[in-house]
Amino acid sequence: MSHSDPNCIFCKIVEGKIPSRKVHEDEEMIAFHDIHPWAPVHFLMVPKAHIPSMAQVGPEHAGVLGRMMALAPRLALEAGCQPYPAGGYRIVVNTGEHAGQEVHHLHIHVMGGPRPWLKG
Ligand code: 5GP
Ligand code: ZN
Repeated sequence: MSHSDPNCIFCKIVEGKIPSRKVHEDEEMIAFHDIHPWAPVHFLMVPKAHIPSMAQVGPEHAGVLGRMMALAPRLALEAGCQPYPAGGYRIVVNTGEHAGQEVHHLHIHVMGGPRPWLKG
């Protein structure tokens, strides 16, 4: 698995070659607002290493993926999601064609904010 793919849009965001509205950055991950949000709050959490999708994930990725999931709740609140349980958010990882994955660099969608078309 190569660390960076020169044709990958998220590798370019990681490297700062394409601008993004950052929510968080550290040595192993970056988080930034989605350019076409599906929800009032919608950001993506991306490992800096180029992993195409969940399908390529193995035990060697457990650390970074665990740290990404463990950071998501704090970033969600900082990005404007309302607290659980009245507020909250969805965490989604599209994987492959049947899930509609468009960018083949692993990313976690975090989506929150009121969605009046849903009951409850
Ligand atoms: P996927 O369908 O692969 O799970 O989601 C890819 C997401 O990346 C989409 O929601 C899309 O709007 C977002 N996206 C694609 N290109 C860019 C970009 O250049 N900048 C940002 N911020 N988001 C992007
Ligand atoms: Zn990439």
